[in-house]
Amino acid sequence: MNLLQITKKFPTQKACIEHLEQLRWKGTPVCTFCESEKVSKLKNESRYHCNKCNRSFSVLVGTIFEETRMPLQNWFYSIGLMLNAKKGISAKQLQRDLGLSYKTAWYTLMRIRCALSDNVQFLRGVVQMDEVYVGGKPRKGNIRSKGNVITTLDKKNKRGRGTDKVKIVGIAERGKHGKVVAEVMERLTTKNLMALLKKHVSKNDSIVVTDGFKAYKQLEESFNHVTINHSKQFSKDGMDLNQIENFWSILKRGISGQYHYISKQYLPFYLAEFTYRYNNRQNKEVFEDTIKVSVKKPKCVENYKGGNRKVKNC
Ligand SMILES: [Zn+2]
Repeated sequence: MNLLQITKKFPTQKACIEHLEQLRWKGTPVCTFCESEKVSKLKNESRYHCNKCNRSFSVLVGTIFEETRMPLQNWFYSIGLMLNAKKGISAKQLQRDLGLSYKTAWYTLMRIRCALSDNVQFLRGVVQMDEVYVGGKPRKGNIRSKGNVITTLDKKNKRGRGTDKVKIVGIAERGKHGKVVAEVMERLTTKNLMALLKKHVSKNDSIVVTDGFKAYKQLEESFNHVTINHSKQFSKDGMDLNQIENFWSILKRGISGQYHYISKQYLPFYLAEFTYRYNNRQNKEVFEDTIKVSVKKPKCVENYKGGNRKVKNC
């Protein structure tokens, strides 16, 4: 849905609230604290009073919109803008588009990412597994004299494997509607890669395609495994790594073009955003579906406000 359509469908705060109430309660309001149906509507407000636990609540309690002072139309616009921006939208851009403060724009986008984070996918068929490294361009090493010998600090010049950059591992299902999963991985070991595969890929009816990196070698013990040696060829028996590389290129361009820099602690939230958008690239109802998941989400703001910044329990 584009912004004009969102404006037409949700012209007022009341229209947004009614839509969320319909999605969440389907016409019968339920107390958000004790789940009692014995509730009364408060006059002139979008709030209800629970006759059982004596508390008042609105449809926003327990969702990503909880305690917001921003009009819901702005939330809906933000969701629309984020979903329509293939390579993401920065808080600065949202600030300009909607006239928000930077802080509000940043929190809005992070909360929406929370809603998108429950993107558990199960893949089958031909799946491509690969990893990517993010964390700035490699810098030229300093030339430092070591006794009489001048050495270059080669480590700083390296790209990809063997560097201190953040590692992201992804699995993509081949095909027009193929889904993708991506996770930050501390160490690229066979055990970790296998755990990711087992979590997301159907073992019996899948073929896993990887490059020749040694940590992938033992995958063939549990999965049908095809290795493509990139120093010799880029496809083998019609199989390649193009789909996952396509996703990496969207992600990398998004990070470098829109966000410029993402700290490691927030990276899982951005991955949730990019994978969600990619997985819904053919979904014409993506805006409506996102509003649906956003009211069903338990409160997850603590995950990026406090110490536990994992996206898992979002
Ligand atoms: Zn109650």
